[in-house]
Amino acid sequence: MAAERQELFRKIPGVDRLLLDPRLEDVSSRHPRTLLLKAIHLTLDGLRETIVKGKDIREEDLEVDRVAEMVLKELERISRPSLRPVINATGVVVHTNLGRSLMAESVLRRFRPLSGGYSNLEYDLEQGKRGSRYVHVEDLLVELTGAEAAMVVNNNAAAVLICLDTLARGREVVVSRGQLVEIGGSFRIPDVMRKSGATMVEVGTTNKTHLSDYEQVIGPDTALLLKVHKSNFQVVGFTEDVPMTDLVELGKRYGIPVMEDLGSGCLVDLLKYGLVKEPTVQETLAQGADLVSFSGDKLLGGPQAGIIVGRKSIVDAIRKNQLNRALRIDKLTLLALEETLRLYRDEHTAVRLIPTLRMMLGTYRDMVRKAERLRKMIGNPGSRSFKIEMEDGNSRPGGGSLPLLELPTRLLCLVPGKRDAQFMERWLRAYDPPIIARVEKERVVLDVRTIQSREFMTVAEAVRSLAKTRG
Ligand SMILES: *Cc1c(COP(=O)(O)O)cnc(C)c1O
Repeated sequence: MAAERQELFRKIPGVDRLLLDPRLEDVSSRHPRTLLLKAIHLTLDGLRETIVKGKDIREEDLEVDRVAEMVLKELERISRPSLRPVINATGVVVHTNLGRSLMAESVLRRFRPLSGGYSNLEYDLEQGKRGSRYVHVEDLLVELTGAEAAMVVNNNAAAVLICLDTLARGREVVVSRGQLVEIGGSFRIPDVMRKSGATMVEVGTTNKTHLSDYEQVIGPDTALLLKVHKSNFQVVGFTEDVPMTDLVELGKRYGIPVMEDLGSGCLVDLLKYGLVKEPTVQETLAQGADLVSFSGDKLLGGPQAGIIVGRKSIVDAIRKNQLNRALRIDKLTLLALEETLRLYRDEHTAVRLIPTLRMMLGTYRDMVRKAERLRKMIGNPGSRSFKIEMEDGNSRPGGGSLPLLELPTRLLCLVPGKRDAQFMERWLRAYDPPIIARVEKERVVLDVRTIQSREFMTVAEAVRSLAKTRG
């Protein structure tokens, strides 16, 4: 056995011989030499490992021709950008792992001139002198939410951190035990609180918190009453929460500001469109909250950002916090946020043109039509590998928003014949562009809600080519 292995090792072609292969010579003019060498070394290492592990490998597999072929594949793999577009067939609209919100077309149109050229990012065109990068979105935010003032930072986690740091460093923040949430990616209220240097004072219980619970702990060190929106879970049954208006009244009596971390921060009332009630930023402010923070890339449907709106005196203080410089957002984010917010000036335009909202509000009938269109484009792949069936199912909002809401949809299912679901899911994921699907009840399901129309042709081709795959 060992002798056999030695023999195979000797048969592995050397780097110099591979470099003389005409196909590798051919590509060497198009790729940096170091990258080609890296591909060769990775390929040879892979072969050695295969031999060491005693996996099935024959002498023919080690011929220069075959190995050069493997090097080409490896070269293609490592020279591709790491960050790539994928097709989201999971039906999870705000999919954090897949980049949360898609930018609206009008945002994309502005990317090119603004990122490829200079801009008035921090330049006041009227005065001819230095300006603030935040003016581009602050007035819009004030206009849309009715707040006195607004500012933006890198994400909502940063927004909560800088609010707490500004208002409550070295002092106390009162929060209900029912709202000590954890959001995916390790955002936890108690941890953020500790980082900000504020002391968390928990009140109430997991299911019930009363106004008197807050009042009892208020003392000279109380700096803030904090509400955290239960974005990604719900407590049902014997429950009670203190409404914002009551908390505001309590805060007023003691001269303590009230803040809500809204999480998603919707600007349109989803109930109006047949979904469930999600508190909007405007409503929360109208109820008297002194400060509200929310994400730019959840239900708002913009870029990653943390938005802070509220009383002018508080927002001004937050703006002056040194942390602000560290948490500031980039010009591409500002541009995307400004353009997304501009769409909200007309709600009808917003729900039509902001992809996150459009996908969320798509009806079951829309999904049936979409699924039928995709089914037709696939045609009859005539394969024993799988059968295609259509079925009703549910999409999810995702992004830690509206946890219980299911959006009725139509699924295209690949029901295994010769192929099992895991194989098909992996195959679609390895496709270029990768297609991310779910496996449910031993079948691969493609949810059309999150597949963009422009991607239909690609998905149809992928399914047809999966049907033809051997090996
Ligand atoms: C999502 C969320 C956050 C974190 O927001 P990011 O923009 O992802 O940093 C914080 N608080 C709540 C309640 C959330 O839902």
